[in-house]
Amino acid sequence: MIPYGRQDISIEDIDAVVSVLKSDFLTQGPTVPAFEQLIADYCNANYAVAVNSATSALHIACLALGVKKGDIVWTSPITFVASANCALYCGADVDFVDIDSATYNMSISVLEEKLIKAEKQGRLPKVVIPVHLAGQSCEMSKIHELGQRYGFRIIEDASHAIGGKYKNESIGGCHFSDITVFSFHPVKIITTGEGGMCLTNDLKLANLLNRYRSHGIVRKQIEMTNISEGPWYYEQVDLGYNYRMTDIQAALGISQMKRLDEFVSARNTIAARYDELLNQEWLQLPWQHPDNYSAFHLYIIRVKESNQWISHLQLFEKLRSAGILVNLHYIPVYKHPYFEKIGFDKSEFPQSTLYYSEAISIPIFASLTESEQQFVADVINKANYI
Ligand SMILES: *Cc1c(COP(=O)(O)O)cnc(C)c1O
Repeated sequence: MIPYGRQDISIEDIDAVVSVLKSDFLTQGPTVPAFEQLIADYCNANYAVAVNSATSALHIACLALGVKKGDIVWTSPITFVASANCALYCGADVDFVDIDSATYNMSISVLEEKLIKAEKQGRLPKVVIPVHLAGQSCEMSKIHELGQRYGFRIIEDASHAIGGKYKNESIGGCHFSDITVFSFHPVKIITTGEGGMCLTNDLKLANLLNRYRSHGIVRKQIEMTNISEGPWYYEQVDLGYNYRMTDIQAALGISQMKRLDEFVSARNTIAARYDELLNQEWLQLPWQHPDNYSAFHLYIIRVKESNQWISHLQLFEKLRSAGILVNLHYIPVYKHPYFEKIGFDKSEFPQSTLYYSEAISIPIFASLTESEQQFVADVINKANYI
């Protein structure tokens, strides 16, 4: 069996976790702040706030930006449901912006048209959440420009994209956004088992993220409502959650970070090799915008709808029965029954609908061998002729 993605755990990773288990603090010790500092430095961002998942990170990012009932949040339909659910957790409404046919990221021209319409209707979004699908950044400078013009804030869902670059800068530096979110789920680029991170350059936002991560509790006098009554004193000033990461997880994260660049470079090598092996007229292979260095969380092929010989479903089933655990990232969010009940006009998303009928994620992860890759390519290439 070859999965589409998997973690890479070294002896050093295991030792790092064991040493925390033998230490005084399993949680709320020194390891989480050390992991935060490491990621902030790597990304060249001022602040990093670690949490127990990217889903939690997206939720507190929305809270920190003041998303509430009556507000509107836009994201891409081709994403994991968490990118949309974070708005719903805050009582806001969610809507989608169709994807670009070449990058499969949120389309800038569709975004602009939708903003023009929304402004006329008085229905502008408070926050837009671009998703860096497969590890390739969205066109952030253009989204930022539109944000300035139409007054929305920006959360980058970079769950796929740690280690990638946009305009030669590490993704996560928040040059064109308010907050960037990473995921450390085992299928992503580096892992902490479960885990996520918010990055920002804004101290106020960093303080709010910290607050919402831990019950809405503050411990610094400057954030308190009343005067401290003694060394034990703290205040709950808002309604928050327990979204903390453990030191056990952070230790794994710190250790994984040592190999981040290696992982991303291995993924780029694998992608370049697939580009050669699968160079066929009936397939659409990933396209990289020249501004980007992708982290290549996913390698997505598309079986062109015009292909006469084998359908998308047939190729998917053929790969699965050959022991290749391909996947489809993603079912458009508006298609899920929960979202269908909210009600979206699907004719607004023709590129997402077409994408869904063509896309397959094939195996890509740092330890994928050349012979495994050759096998995957052989199954795909032969599939169209029998
Ligand atoms: C994985 C993922 C998430 C959620 O990450 P978790 O850490 O599992 O909560 C959110 N958005 C995208 C695009 C993802 O791929």
